[in-house]
Amino acid sequence: MDFQLSEEQRIFKKTVHDFADQRLAPLVKAWDEQGAFMDRKTLSQYAEMGLLGISLPETYGGGGLSSFEAILAIEELARVSPIAAAPVFETSVGPIRVVHLFGNEEQKRRFLPPSCTGEKLMAVAMTEPGAGSALTDLTTRAVLQGDHYVVNGQKRFISGGGHSELYMAYVRLSEVKGWKGIGGLVVEKDAPGLSFGKQEVFMGLHGMPSSDLIFEDCRVPRENLVLPEGGFAKLMQAFDIERCGNATMSLGIAWGALEAAKKYSQERVAFGKPICEFQAIQLLLADMAMRVEAARLLIYRAVTNAGLGVPSVYESSVAKCFSNEMAKEVTDMAMQVFGGYGYSKEYPIERMLRDSRGWPLAGGTVQMQRINIAGAMLGRRFNQR
Ligand SMILES: Cc1cc2nc3c(=O)[nH]c(=O)nc-3n(C[C@H](O)[C@H](O)[C@H](O)COP(=O)(O)OP(=O)(O)OC[C@H]3O[C@@H](n4cnc5c(N)ncnc54)[C@H](O)[C@@H]3O)c2cc1C
Repeated sequence: MDFQLSEEQRIFKKTVHDFADQRLAPLVKAWDEQGAFMDRKTLSQYAEMGLLGISLPETYGGGGLSSFEAILAIEELARVSPIAAAPVFETSVGPIRVVHLFGNEEQKRRFLPPSCTGEKLMAVAMTEPGAGSALTDLTTRAVLQGDHYVVNGQKRFISGGGHSELYMAYVRLSEVKGWKGIGGLVVEKDAPGLSFGKQEVFMGLHGMPSSDLIFEDCRVPRENLVLPEGGFAKLMQAFDIERCGNATMSLGIAWGALEAAKKYSQERVAFGKPICEFQAIQLLLADMAMRVEAARLLIYRAVTNAGLGVPSVYESSVAKCFSNEMAKEVTDMAMQVFGGYGYSKEYPIERMLRDSRGWPLAGGTVQMQRINIAGAMLGRRFNQR
């Protein structure tokens, strides 16, 4: 066991750190206050820097590294804003990994390279109005008619909705109920019969496109089927990687809040001295640091143990659940360090607190993570029905 980053990893991390501070930090206010989306020019810079498809094979234009390097980048970028980390998330730990791990050669050639250039990003479309935590209740139906699938149904809260060019849609491919009837189909944005609902207005994560996907006799070429009926278990395996990405969004936000609180506590003067000299503030900072470090270790463990494969459900769920809840607490503590200024929109803390609140809901709630953890611990699957 070695807790040190390699020389290459340190240099890579520092490069991403500087990019986040110099190029992205000035954009964060506009993303949050105006709900502006990341522009193409900025996205193409990610590609130039090799930040898209970090963990995809070099043959398809990726970085050929492991998910761990992607996690390092997500952590650095989410420190500034989760919106800044989203392109790395989508192209390295998101649904594109389903194609990478389980797609055929032709699908990899079609979908991986444009993901690595930023030309075509892939979003994940699982949730439906009637199927959130109970995902296997999903009813979006894909029926094969000749050389096309005809898809009908609706997806909800899809990050990237209306903006991403590709959607990994979890669909029901037969009348078989539960997970056995579910597979994964790539739907292109311009597929006839696909439309998008209004932009979702969330409490935080402004600047992240999110909408419903509406399929009305939507025609999708049959060669876009990545996982046939019964492929749900594989979709979930790939999702174990995404879960670590979600956890890292929380980690990055919390780390950013801790760094801001450390700086502020040395500048703000009360009773004639910097507030970091008061023990109550020191204890807050120490509590924040312990929580951030613990989350970091849990995430690093899950991803390092995965190597070039997928993390275990247990380790990824422990990391996500802990990290999601940690970020809520740490951003709240940071607000306390900032006093009234933390509550003001002039400072970043209130945004961080709002942004932190999305991750314990997205990608499986913390309650569902606990169910995963208990199930893995006891070696049983508990039927929730
Ligand atoms: C910011 C954000 C981004 C998102 N991005 C995406 C995306 O890109 N793609 C996508 O497909 N979806 C996305 N989602 C949707 C997200 O995955 C769902 O909201 C989530 O899975 C919960 O589903 P639900 O909202 O229907 O809640 P419900 O399933 O209705 O749950 C409501 C409450 O009941 C609890 N609960 C439910 N069942 C149980 C049980 N068996 N035991 C204990 N507690 C239970 C839940 O934990 C929760 O607290 C996103 C959501 C958010 C907020």
